[in-house]
Amino acid sequence: MNSSSYDVVIIGAGMVGATLASLLSRAGFSVALVEAVAPAEFDGAAEVGLRVSAISPGSAAILEQAGAWKRIASERVRPYRRMQVEDGVELEPLVFDAPVFNLERLGTIVENDLVQWSAWQVISTSGLVDIFCPDHLAGIEPGERHNRVTLGSGQVLTASLVVGADGAGSRVRKILGLRQRHFSYNQHGLVAVVGKQKPNPGVAWQRFLPGGPLAFLPLADGRSSIVWTLPSAEAERLLALDDAGFITELDTASSGWLGHVDTLGPRAAFPLSMRLSESYASRRTVLMGDAAHVVHPLAGQGVNLGFADAAALAEKLIAVRLGGGDVGAAGVLREYDRARRSESETMAFGMHAIRSLFAIDGLAPLRRAGLALVKRSWPARDMFLQRAAGTGASAPRLARGVTLRELMRP
Ligand SMILES: Cc1cc2nc3c(=O)[nH]c(=O)nc-3n(C[C@H](O)[C@H](O)[C@H](O)COP(=O)(O)OP(=O)(O)OC[C@H]3O[C@@H](n4cnc5c(N)ncnc54)[C@H](O)[C@@H]3O)c2cc1C
Repeated sequence: MNSSSYDVVIIGAGMVGATLASLLSRAGFSVALVEAVAPAEFDGAAEVGLRVSAISPGSAAILEQAGAWKRIASERVRPYRRMQVEDGVELEPLVFDAPVFNLERLGTIVENDLVQWSAWQVISTSGLVDIFCPDHLAGIEPGERHNRVTLGSGQVLTASLVVGADGAGSRVRKILGLRQRHFSYNQHGLVAVVGKQKPNPGVAWQRFLPGGPLAFLPLADGRSSIVWTLPSAEAERLLALDDAGFITELDTASSGWLGHVDTLGPRAAFPLSMRLSESYASRRTVLMGDAAHVVHPLAGQGVNLGFADAAALAEKLIAVRLGGGDVGAAGVLREYDRARRSESETMAFGMHAIRSLFAIDGLAPLRRAGLALVKRSWPARDMFLQRAAGTGASAPRLARGVTLRELMRP
């Protein structure tokens, strides 16, 4: 492709933008992808990365249609079949087992770098996507029939639709003047790779502690990737401890689970917030992934929502094209906005409520009642799991096993 005129220009080739570029190009759209920093080649022999994600079965189905899942699954990933939630005080562990819900797995723990690199490999070798990297978005000039996108290099691209998949600090969102609700949790997510006396048997384990949840996510080699949500000052204190001091604290916080901590890698911490854009669409432009919404990571849903955004948009655009319509038309974008904003806000406020239930002492009776309900009520557990698996009725069809080819059939 030599033309600088495209159906879709995507800004940002993180996990979400790269997946969308692959889905759309495979569906026959002309696509340009603009990325500031080329992803580093994934090295399976190097130490496990600090950023991992719990990828839901629905997201895995989407990545499969994007051509990236086979590559991802052939590397060091760890499927998990059990999820265990406890509060370490009064609560009998709440256990979800995949087979009980007719699921082959509840999710797969994958390094973020592996997901991004795999999707990047697919698009950079397919010849179907024009990649502008390293380059960055300088400006968007909205027009009646198309938008003009100017890059830092001076290159000008035109597109029927521009997609902002450029992360939480989205420049696309700022250029469009879309406001955002921002709630800081005054918490950090402390991450590290940790080995315990006993290997992790493939369980995503989470204990709600007064300062926030501590999660152990299983890795391929039997170690776990931890995400420990802590008040920011406490996270800072734990980051500053030497290894022995940190291990003592982590042993106390995770006592009774797989014995003592016996190996510990480097630590890092990320500030946690909820950010919700007031709209995901404006003037031939849409937002997706963290550019549109950032949610608390306690249920590991952030990037899963982003993959669902990408799938939902791809489905919509394929249908519009089959009907001979304009993929950037206001009505098309309004439908995307309505559907995805409602889904993300439900998830964001759900995470917010769960976090508050565990964070506020006075809410203990409500917490007990809620957990007892989830424990005893089969429909409540089933609904909870279908949503977490990304395969519920509101999930995009690509997440529920429908193929791109099927969607493209007239
Ligand atoms: C501690 C922690 C744990 C988490 N765990 C999970 C989990 O288990 N499961 C889960 O689903 N989610 C999880 N998340 C959330 C998840 O990490 C994010 O939702 C996800 O990384 C967002 O991906 P993205 O592609 O939308 O954005 P990003 O990863 O931010 O990608 C944006 C891309 O755009 C590029 N870019 C930015 N600006 C420009 C520009 N102007 N021009 C060109 N390129 C640009 C950037 O270089 C980048 O490559 C977690 C988050 C945290 C903090």
